[in-house]
Amino acid sequence: MNVHHHLDDTTLLRYASGDLDEAFLVVAAAHLAMCDHCRHAAHMAEEVGGELLETSDQAVLGADAFERVMQRIDSGEERITAKRQGTRARTGDVPLPLQRFVGNSLDAIRWKSVAPGVRKHDIKLSGPSTSSLYMLHIAPGKALPEHGHGGTEMTLVLSGAYRDELGRFGPGDVADLDEHVEHQPKVEQDAPCICLVATETPTRFKGIFSRILQPLVGI
Ligand SMILES: [Zn+2]
Repeated sequence: MNVHHHLDDTTLLRYASGDLDEAFLVVAAAHLAMCDHCRHAAHMAEEVGGELLETSDQAVLGADAFERVMQRIDSGEERITAKRQGTRARTGDVPLPLQRFVGNSLDAIRWKSVAPGVRKHDIKLSGPSTSSLYMLHIAPGKALPEHGHGGTEMTLVLSGAYRDELGRFGPGDVADLDEHVEHQPKVEQDAPCICLVATETPTRFKGIFSRILQPLVGI
């Protein structure tokens, strides 16, 4: 798969160290299932992180540990085939880490219309969480309101494509955005765009979904 937009380095390390909240974990794992580059990097981070912990008396990572890990990953000095089984989709068009939540077919997902041209499917997480996970089905040619982010938001394209100030996002591409990024995504004309979105539970109406709803609820 031709992936151009990847997980942030910090996200990869948090994934590797088991530090991601469930919604973000699912999006990151789904991206890894679609992206050889990040799967390799995450595996390296796990390997190197484990090594550092094993060789450290007090299990405290040095200040340069992050850079060392990323240098080794970037240089590709160690070619390690991902041993993690089950990250690749075996059947259907839904990445395997997402299949236990929504099944294996995008066609079978039940959408709820939330705004003109925008449909949503909420995904129930397995426990209490400070983040939420949902899918969006956005009509061809539809532009979303320009929005910033009240917190971190991670969007993975599963089908179709959109463009914004950061470029074109097609299947497998992930937008791993912090609260400083403002953008206005517009879906390409030829097909709807289906995305998987993890967002920190907004304290105010700042996230993408709230901005979609904003004109409807008159905030
Ligand atoms: Zn990637």
